[in-house]
Amino acid sequence: MTSAERISLPPQLAPGRRARILVVDDQPTNILTLHRLFEDEHDMFMATGGEQALAFCRRTPPDLVLLDVVMPEPGGLAVCRALAADPATRDIPVIFVTGVDDPEGEAACWDAGGVDFITKPFNARTVSHRVRAHLTLKRQADLLRRLAWIDGLTGIANRRHFDDCLQDEWSRCARLASPLSLVSFDIDHFKRFNDSNGHLAGDDALRAVAEAAAGCVSRPGDLVARTGGEEFAALLSHVDASGAAIVAEHIRQAVADLSIAHPAGDLGRLSISVGVATIVPEPGGEPEVLLAAADRALYAAKAAGRNCVRVAPATGEFALAP
Ligand code: GH3
Ligand code: MG
Ligand code: MG
Repeated sequence: MTSAERISLPPQLAPGRRARILVVDDQPTNILTLHRLFEDEHDMFMATGGEQALAFCRRTPPDLVLLDVVMPEPGGLAVCRALAADPATRDIPVIFVTGVDDPEGEAACWDAGGVDFITKPFNARTVSHRVRAHLTLKRQADLLRRLAWIDGLTGIANRRHFDDCLQDEWSRCARLASPLSLVSFDIDHFKRFNDSNGHLAGDDALRAVAEAAAGCVSRPGDLVARTGGEEFAALLSHVDASGAAIVAEHIRQAVADLSIAHPAGDLGRLSISVGVATIVPEPGGEPEVLLAAADRALYAAKAAGRNCVRVAPATGEFALAP
């Protein structure tokens, strides 16, 4: 599994990979023209309606969309706005293909979130160059996103990406009145591990813990991140407290199963303490509440002797995980 797959980033337009371009038009002849123009160089996909285009983009985000403006509902402008509103599709560049060239029509394309537009009937060379320029920008943006979002040591998401996803998932779960869970974990007596085994061995252990934890979460919306030096978090959307406690226990067990020797620790092998918190976010609320609750549960796990899971209930005492 690549690091990008582990941190659920949209597919990267990596150097050497053929670009995936979606052409959306209710007139098949228009699709065919663009298809022929690019099929040698890129992988071409087509949709003859707005709903079909949105479904395709959510399932398998393309690198670029060539979007007809005038189509039966939802029209091109509505499709572009819907792509821009969804974190999973908002980074896909959209070039409008339009038959109208009046200033108001052009303004509407920019306002909807298009990166460019092409007026029909079009000049094939100009279209080729425009598409190439936007694919180059996409390639660079994808690379920057990865550099900015991946933790260099472990290859999983870093704190910055975690914070962005937490904000996005908080809003999404608030809209749907759905639970959002956070599993926070921290390596036990890691200072002692470094002191007795050296920092390089410490770094290897961090990588092993990250990989073990990432292997425990598999749903598309899940994210495992390194949030601090030897602190990690798993963000689980639409997962309630009992589901999150099960994932937390899997992660704890997976780290214990690594059987990394830690003679200076309490158990003789590396372990983690885990805190779990779940909330159904309130619209307008702040995710800090969830972070603080998971932190308190993690602290309770440390206080209870480490190598264990504690769940923060909405109110009252910390409950024991099953
Ligand atoms: P506790 O069980 O209470 O969590 O104790 P601890 O020793 O793990 O916690 P503490 O916060 O005192 O120490 C964390 C240690 O993590 C300090 C530092 O040596 C180590 N650490 C943090 N980041 C890195 C890193 O990138 N590489 C390595 N090798 N060690 C790191
Ligand atoms: Mg620690
Ligand atoms: Mg710590």
